[in-house]
Amino acid sequence: MAISRSRADPVEHPGGGFDHHDYDVLLVGAGLANSIVALMLSRAHRGLSIGMIERDDRIGGNHTWSFHTTDIDSDALTVLEPMLEARWPDQEIRFPKLKRILSTGYNAMTSERLHDAVMTNAAIDVVLSAGVKDVSSTGVALEDGRRISARCVIDGRGARATQSLALGYQKFVGLEVELVDPHGMTRPVIMDATVAQHDGYRFVYTLPFSPTRILIEDTYYSDGPDLDVDLLASRAHAYAAQNNWRIARMIRQEQGVLPITLAGDIEGFWAEGPQKAARSGMRACLFHPTTGYSLPDAVLLAQKIAASQQFDTAAIDKLVRRHSHRCWNERSFFRFLNRMLFLAARGDERRTVLERFYALPQPLIERFYAGQITSGDKVRILMGRPPLPIPRAMRHMSESQALAAVTQRLQGQIHG
Ligand SMILES: Cc1cc2nc3c(=O)[nH]c(=O)nc-3n(C[C@H](O)[C@H](O)[C@H](O)COP(=O)(O)OP(=O)(O)OC[C@H]3O[C@@H](n4cnc5c(N)ncnc54)[C@H](O)[C@@H]3O)c2cc1C
Repeated sequence: MAISRSRADPVEHPGGGFDHHDYDVLLVGAGLANSIVALMLSRAHRGLSIGMIERDDRIGGNHTWSFHTTDIDSDALTVLEPMLEARWPDQEIRFPKLKRILSTGYNAMTSERLHDAVMTNAAIDVVLSAGVKDVSSTGVALEDGRRISARCVIDGRGARATQSLALGYQKFVGLEVELVDPHGMTRPVIMDATVAQHDGYRFVYTLPFSPTRILIEDTYYSDGPDLDVDLLASRAHAYAAQNNWRIARMIRQEQGVLPITLAGDIEGFWAEGPQKAARSGMRACLFHPTTGYSLPDAVLLAQKIAASQQFDTAAIDKLVRRHSHRCWNERSFFRFLNRMLFLAARGDERRTVLERFYALPQPLIERFYAGQITSGDKVRILMGRPPLPIPRAMRHMSESQALAAVTQRLQGQIHG
């Protein structure tokens, strides 16, 4: 597919003089983060020319992206609304000793809807089926030899391997199915941890899209990234059978291995990989440390970029780096909790730690998922009878020691 429009007008440089670029902003990779940047930019800056280049023949891959309503602000929700496949007013969690309904809204966005929203936005030019070979601060070279130039280049090509993060993993295989009879579920169950435990901490996640259509995701918090897709799919089938859900038709299957950050070196992370363009999404280390989810961070970054008045690579690179570093520094407590969960907890203790977490006040849980916990929340999380022996927990306090120890054991390979 060729570029449908390209900018013909010369662009005035901040320092004076004119130069020609194909676009004001060029987004490399049309995944979650760059798509949201494009949508927010087109809304905030009419007249800005925006190009997007994607290797695949569709935008956004094959995903269901979920988030809590409290993860993003109401303005962002307005932007995402047309892309939401479903919205639920509440959600449920199930542990052996705790069943709880949280009145926190939950939302699911799909790749199909993201694709349609971007493709029908007249302000965004999309080039599909075009692999990018080289990225610079002034444009890209495509694998087929074409070159596209821009004043501002943002690399959102997803997660890349890194040596600078010590990771655990959230892994899953999800089956979206049409059932013969109604499943009877009225709300998402974001963790059903009453299931048999394997490979770390296991739970099943279900999203009821219609009375007979449901996503069943067999999910693990594991030490390693290996994913046995057939085994997890068979466990999702077994979960359906246990609930007497007879599958009439398979709609879609998705799988993921998401990074859970135990420790890391943010300077090292940013020093790795191509340096010339600005970055977005997983590539900018913008994901929730404890879930690996990146939608709320993608929204926040897009809002920051859209609020900028200066669209050149250097300015946006500075903005993203500063934001990524700030998020990293503010989230050290999450990494500490992750070390408790992945390094200090043994056997079934991971499930116990999470069961205890879910008994905490709902506003705290909401702030936790939004990545915005307060000092009081931290105290509240650590208060009371500890779910792990204190001496064992203390051994994993130091992030730098944990990074050194863990990177020897687990080479940090991050997946999107
Ligand atoms: C199955 C699955 C489900 C997930 N569910 C959730 C969820 O519910 N909620 C949540 O918040 N997070 C979720 N995540 C985690 C995270 O939000 C996603 O991985 C998210 O898509 C990451 O966004 P991104 O923009 O950084 O990268 P991506 O969305 O992966 O986008 C990168 C894009 O760049 C393209 N690309 C790569 N290389 C090139 C190249 N050389 N040339 C051109 N294009 C290129 C890719 O094709 C892709 O489209 C999920 C992840 C997976 C895998």
